[in-house]
Amino acid sequence: MVRPALRSTTLKKKYKATPGGKVVTHYSRKKAGIPHCAECGAILSGVPREGAKVRSTRRNVHRPYGGKLCSRCTREMIKNNAVLPLRGDTDASN
Ligand SMILES: [Zn+2]
Repeated sequence: MVRPALRSTTLKKKYKATPGGKVVTHYSRKKAGIPHCAECGAILSGVPREGAKVRSTRRNVHRPYGGKLCSRCTREMIKNNAVLPLRGDTDASN
């Protein structure tokens, strides 16, 4: 049994044959996925895949919902949050 840290499913396993005929397991980190918009699923720009390799100010977009929503969905979200409460007060039918 391998040590507990290597039993994680976040690690990728690769079976290698050694010159001596044994089969050993090599463990490597899985590559992180491309960040997508939570609303429409579009690929987010300005958020690199490298993560911790990039300096912290380059890891995300510095605006409300940055790194979660794309720019188009952010615009819609802010508009709806600002306009819908006002409509709800004036118009009772909708
Ligand atoms: Zn979006």
